[in-house]
Amino acid sequence: MQTNMLINGEMVKGLGDPISVLNPATGDEICAINAATSEQVDAAMASAHEAFAKYGQTSPAERSELLTNIANLLEENIEELAELESLDAGKPWPSALEDETPLTLDTFRFFAGAARTQSAVAAGEYVAGHTSMIRKDPVGPVAAIAPWNYPLMMGAWKLAAPLAAGCPVTLKPSQLTPLSTLKAAELIASVAPKGVVNVLHGSGHQVGDQMINDPRVEAISITGSNATGAEAMKAASRKIRHVHLELGGKAPVIVFDDADIDAVAETVRYGSFFNAGQDCAQPCRIMVADAVYDKVVAAIVDQVSQIKVGAQKAEGTEMGPIISTAQRNNVAGFVDRAREGCEVVLGGNMIDGPGFFYEPTVLADVDNAAEAACNEIFGPVVTISRFSDEEEALKIANASGYGLASSVWTNNTGRAIRMSSKLRYGFTWVNTHGVATPEMPWAAMKSSGTGCDMSVYALDAYTAVRHVMIAHG
Ligand code: NAD
Repeated sequence: MQTNMLINGEMVKGLGDPISVLNPATGDEICAINAATSEQVDAAMASAHEAFAKYGQTSPAERSELLTNIANLLEENIEELAELESLDAGKPWPSALEDETPLTLDTFRFFAGAARTQSAVAAGEYVAGHTSMIRKDPVGPVAAIAPWNYPLMMGAWKLAAPLAAGCPVTLKPSQLTPLSTLKAAELIASVAPKGVVNVLHGSGHQVGDQMINDPRVEAISITGSNATGAEAMKAASRKIRHVHLELGGKAPVIVFDDADIDAVAETVRYGSFFNAGQDCAQPCRIMVADAVYDKVVAAIVDQVSQIKVGAQKAEGTEMGPIISTAQRNNVAGFVDRAREGCEVVLGGNMIDGPGFFYEPTVLADVDNAAEAACNEIFGPVVTISRFSDEEEALKIANASGYGLASSVWTNNTGRAIRMSSKLRYGFTWVNTHGVATPEMPWAAMKSSGTGCDMSVYALDAYTAVRHVMIAHG
């Protein structure tokens, strides 16, 4: 198993304290991997700073080639990467291979193309005798931090856009799920110039904190919890720099009385319990028009009760474990506090035995202002609540502090467009939920973050717009 980090073009062993990496389906230790020391973090940041002088000057074609090479190398090794991902993140096999890796590879391929497409207003004489032109230059070295729910895919989102823009990236995966990213680091080391990609291992409070506070870093990019996003904002207040945050979500699924109820229920089964519900866009807050409320609850219960929970490679496993005992306790706490004010129509318990399993859980008749309906649970739990009309649905959904994903279910096109235009969420799906493609932004509003991953807008996020004016009389 590859457990070394990538610093300044070399694969090196961490010299800090060991961190246990567990298999969440058994609770057993897979291995212990030494974290980076402060000196090693410093060496990585120094090498990124040094690499920027040259990498920032590369042509779009050269960056495109690097991203294509990375995509090809990852693809050649995709089965091993997916195995590692499945092992430490507890993902069901073969879903880990078939559902997640295509977008990971396509992200690098999309940005390989996008690197060569940047455009701006035409150069021209906006002041007589002076020609103005716009330059789009890389912002500088990036400290990138990824979460544990989709380690490799989040790593791809964190790496591809800044590399396409000409920024060296130092990436830290979550200390809970480093295996696939460390393997990817070894592959990337064979094609990336030294310092252009560094990969570190360690906790957020030590390695992550030092990375985002390093004075040579010009942009911080974090996908994670709101608390970690706030740490990035603090770091940027100590030294001003770009901050790119993709944080928590609480996606409303707004079901009108003319919706295809079977489609809603199937989407809840496959979308809300995919990755054991540990998904920032999880369709988790199901809001249903009064007229179809009972039918929707029954259809969802019918679908969700069929989910087979098990270890990664157990026959027929559709949902795996929660990532850690702490996260399972967190989920259980939300459900236990909700019990009195709602009906637990399915699940609601930890599953006995080894590993960190929790039952697929459906909470019905949840008050729209209840904690379980408003806060991110990040586990295999959905809430179902009622609304009476469009206006009330919008009011409830938009009162949320989160602003990441949302979906609207209706066969009325006018209503779909009205709702989509008024929902204050980074993305709104109509009659579907969770479908992603690298051409389109994974965008955040309100406390769910700033900016977006994927799409040309992510490329812009790592690009400084500059004005050059030439006086020529
Ligand atoms: P987390 O914030 O605990 O950890 C995320 C990463 O930040 C980890 O690598 C961690 O080590 C690091 N970190 C923690 N404290 C830090 C600090 N002080 N300084 C620097 N780095 C620090 O989040 P998590 O529990 O790993 O992930 C779950 C969260 O991520 C959920 O809230 C989820 O919604 C969010 N998420 C958002 C998106 C999105 O696209 N918006 C995608 C996936 C996950």
